[in-house]
Amino acid sequence: MKPIIQVKDLIFEYTRTDAETGEKTVNRAVDNVTFDIAKGSFVAVIGQNGSGKSTLAKCLNGLLLPTSGEVHVSGMRTSDDEHIWDVRSKVGMVFQNPDNQIVSSIIEDDVAFGPENLGIEPAEIRRRVDEALREVGMYDQRKKGPHQLSGGQKQRIAIAGAIAMRPECIVFDEPTAMLDPKGRNMVLYIIKKLNREGITTILITHFMEEAAQAERIIVMQQGRIFSDSTPHELFSDRERIRAAGLELPPAVDLRERVTALGCEIPADIVTADDLIDFITKQPAAAAAE
Ligand code: ADP
Ligand code: MG
Repeated sequence: MKPIIQVKDLIFEYTRTDAETGEKTVNRAVDNVTFDIAKGSFVAVIGQNGSGKSTLAKCLNGLLLPTSGEVHVSGMRTSDDEHIWDVRSKVGMVFQNPDNQIVSSIIEDDVAFGPENLGIEPAEIRRRVDEALREVGMYDQRKKGPHQLSGGQKQRIAIAGAIAMRPECIVFDEPTAMLDPKGRNMVLYIIKKLNREGITTILITHFMEEAAQAERIIVMQQGRIFSDSTPHELFSDRERIRAAGLELPPAVDLRERVTALGCEIPADIVTADDLIDFITKQPAAAAAE
């Protein structure tokens, strides 16, 4: 199948002009990056602060246009003017700070904001808004104001806003970074559900446990792709993890420590859920029930 997103030789540079001297400084945030995203896949993007993840994310839906190279979404080039709205509606974005993403004083109006801008007729907007709110479990709260919601609930509204555009792909840029553990779990649960329902998912995160749940992990370093593999491959390579300045997911760390004590745990277990699943199926655990 043709990939939904194709990135080829992408370079993105921020240029700043000093107000006094007129001198230009160029900061290359994305440095010659090439990859494809398969339709329906779940890809995590990780890497240290400043490695170019957010810049790359904004290049994927045309919020930023390449300095050189190309990004294609469903075959449409993001830098072609006539495609910009199609590209933006196919690739939704959810950002880190829930407070910066809600523009209306009533949450259902907020979810309607995107489709309204697409010029969709009111009855269809109503359907999409209700469906999107149900999808994130916020339908009952639709008449509330954003100030009545927790951070996690606001993020769910931001996700509903993205879903109401009927995107094929959603890029989540550290959507759980500002949430408490409960909000984080709920948002991640919704992200995984949307992916199972067919939405191509790109999750930028600094939580290794979240990245471990993807099918594929791209590691960025200084604007380049440092590694592109399955979670298992990445997290079984301590040297690669160290060189990228990352940590092991808690479940992998625990598995390795338990294995060192002589207990056999399959090496492809990288998430807490799979680890718990494995442990509770052991004869000793079953006998204790
Ligand atoms: P990450 O999301 O991985 O932390 P970013 O894409 O935000 O990385 O940043 C990559 C590089 O681009 C960093 O050096 C950062 O300072 C720079 N940068 C990010 N946004 C801007 C901007 N608006 N103007 C100038 N430089 C920027
Ligand atoms: Mg970022």
